[in-house]
Amino acid sequence: MDIKYILSKIKENGIPGSIRKISNRYSMFPKSINVEIMTVCNLKCKHCRVTYHGSLIPDVKLGMMEFDYFKKIVDRIPSLVRKTVSFQFSSIEPLFHKDLFAMMDYVSGYNKHISFPILTNGMLLNEKNVEELCSRNVPSVTVSLDGCRKETVESFKTGSDFERVTGNIRSARAGSKKKFLLNTIFVATASNINELVEYVDFCSGLGIDTVFVNGFLSYKQESSHLSLFSKTGNPEVYGIFLKANERARERGIKIQFPFLTAKPRGCDAHSNMYIGENGEVAACMHLARRTPLVLFSDSKINPPVIYGNVFEEDPEHIWNKREFSDFRNRHKRGEIPEECAFCGEAYGVIVSNFSAINEKNESM
Ligand code: SF4
Repeated sequence: MDIKYILSKIKENGIPGSIRKISNRYSMFPKSINVEIMTVCNLKCKHCRVTYHGSLIPDVKLGMMEFDYFKKIVDRIPSLVRKTVSFQFSSIEPLFHKDLFAMMDYVSGYNKHISFPILTNGMLLNEKNVEELCSRNVPSVTVSLDGCRKETVESFKTGSDFERVTGNIRSARAGSKKKFLLNTIFVATASNINELVEYVDFCSGLGIDTVFVNGFLSYKQESSHLSLFSKTGNPEVYGIFLKANERARERGIKIQFPFLTAKPRGCDAHSNMYIGENGEVAACMHLARRTPLVLFSDSKINPPVIYGNVFEEDPEHIWNKREFSDFRNRHKRGEIPEECAFCGEAYGVIVSNFSAINEKNESM
């Protein structure tokens, strides 16, 4: 154990705060497990990584994971499942998998307290699926909705249907009887940022609990102009964030924002174990295969960074391997490993971070 690190934490946080931080750092188990149950999606959004599977990202076998194969993966990781807080299903549209609920039940057989937060494009969030979600430990359903106007949403998400998605959100709000939190993700781009304040009003009308404003992660140079963050921030967009924050406060709904200034901050993937379609363990979906990552005017394709395969090694041993734990610790310290250098997630500009709105100098 790194004594210098421990002493520095005691100095910063006192003894009780240090115990929490140190136990996080040296955690023997992931906080969440994410299994890639499919490599296809029901939509073909032009900017999405899944749409590039098999083309720009060649090393992907397209298809759905069989339920029996999923059970074999879960049977290999019982100790991790028993200790982890949440279990997620990748890629992107879990409701597209016909065996999703059987998979949840199988995982719950190992840990009845484990939760299944759902991220969905909303197209399949129908009455029957809402009923199924309500009968399981689903703490939140977060719908990807990138605007409050039909043309904005449908031009960004190819194949999406604005009326259907928003109708599904309304029925889910009514049908769920507050059993789960209902949130939206708004991926802020140069094309939709001007409707963010109006979007807050719209989401308030839908009964949304939290709006997560995310940054745009680009996989292709041609679409990198849509990103709103930069090395020095974006005062104009920060002004829009402030207005949206104020509107959310007036409407009584929560909202979170990403940073607009890209600085090494580390990525939250360090608490997650990502298990790919063939049992291989990576830190995240981007590092599970040759994914092109674009940051500002530069781009890079990393070779996959795989720490082991759950069918060949003890999964706890994989999680605690020195190279995997070093990788996580670097992110916790805000140091960016080489393989993440071109990923916006490492710089705090993609995923919402509520503190971004409170730290003006950081965001502008
Ligand atoms: S920074 Fe990007 S590539 Fe690195 S772990 Fe996070 S999501 Fe994956």
